[in-house]
Amino acid sequence: MNKIINDLDTIEQIQIAIPYVHPFRTSFGTETKKEAVIIKITDIEGNVGWGETSTGAKPDYCYETYETSWHIQKDFLIPIMQGINYTEEPSIQSIYQTWHGIRGHEFAKSGIESALYSLIAEQKKVSLGDLYGSSKDKIPTGVSIGIQNDLESLLNRIDFFIKQGYQRIKMKIEPGWDYEVVSAVRKEFGDILLMVDANSAYSLNDKHVETLKKLDKFELMMIEQPLAYNDILAHKQLQAQLDTPVCLDESIHDPMGAQLALENDCCRIINIKPGRVGGYTNAIEIAKYGGAGRVWCGGMLETGIGRIHNLFLQARSEFTMPGDTSGSNRYFEKDIISPEVIVNDLGYITIPKGVGLGVTVLDDYLQDLKVRSKLYHFN
Ligand SMILES: [Mg+2]
Repeated sequence: MNKIINDLDTIEQIQIAIPYVHPFRTSFGTETKKEAVIIKITDIEGNVGWGETSTGAKPDYCYETYETSWHIQKDFLIPIMQGINYTEEPSIQSIYQTWHGIRGHEFAKSGIESALYSLIAEQKKVSLGDLYGSSKDKIPTGVSIGIQNDLESLLNRIDFFIKQGYQRIKMKIEPGWDYEVVSAVRKEFGDILLMVDANSAYSLNDKHVETLKKLDKFELMMIEQPLAYNDILAHKQLQAQLDTPVCLDESIHDPMGAQLALENDCCRIINIKPGRVGGYTNAIEIAKYGGAGRVWCGGMLETGIGRIHNLFLQARSEFTMPGDTSGSNRYFEKDIISPEVIVNDLGYITIPKGVGLGVTVLDDYLQDLKVRSKLYHFN
């Protein structure tokens, strides 16, 4: 399907702060609320597209934050868009190419790119899934559980989510919260689909490698990002010593990096987070390259808008492994979309039908959560 965009009118950055139901702790620290820069794009016909820039408050997961995203969008990406001669009927690809001088800042680009996809779906009166190549009407899903204060709390959390239907458990690990804890989880819950995510908390020192090798006996689906975010070679050296597939998350920022890592056995699986790889065009390219069994879709604790975009991506055929897209109630008392994302008791999420996102964005509630906003015009 061509991705020509008709007559843009405005683009708005809306920064919101929405409190989490539970604080989320990883090896980076603890977060109590979600800050996101929502992107709203309108055309002269009144169609509205929505996207989400889902960076965090601190440059810990990656160098971007919601402040840097705001800055890069406001001072570079949006002014470039305003300078395009729109009589030439731009496509998403052609707009994206005008940003070629802006290096990195993948989340900032993805926020706008995803809003453009959403807008085009509205203009064409099709589902966003038609643009993303969705072929499934429901997707299996899993849950990501942060590091808990003690083992009992972790076991209780896992039990809670399994009873809710989640098909796969991902638990965060760090040195001191790994072998014994995974062992206890296996003992308690048997052969559930289980994986771990280290968020770069390990290195290639003998003690760490020994611990990670010992995890092989638990037949984990994968161990995600065990080593430094910028050390692809170290992951190759680790993968050579492990039976458990290494999955890369923080290390992969574009389709070229994905190809490099898979071809060289630096990892066997890639966690695709569309924001981290610069948007949905790149996410789809990586999915096509990796293929089924080598890619799955992670999350950045997105609000409903980013969550819906991720659902449509996971409805593509390559996404056979349960992802990290939980129900809205996992994170928020009230989400910014209606209906909210719901995980059924068999661990599936139904893909919305209808035009565009297939859900309604709660504009009034967005205003309640707003920290700041800025509106730009195209003419
Ligand atoms: Mg991760």
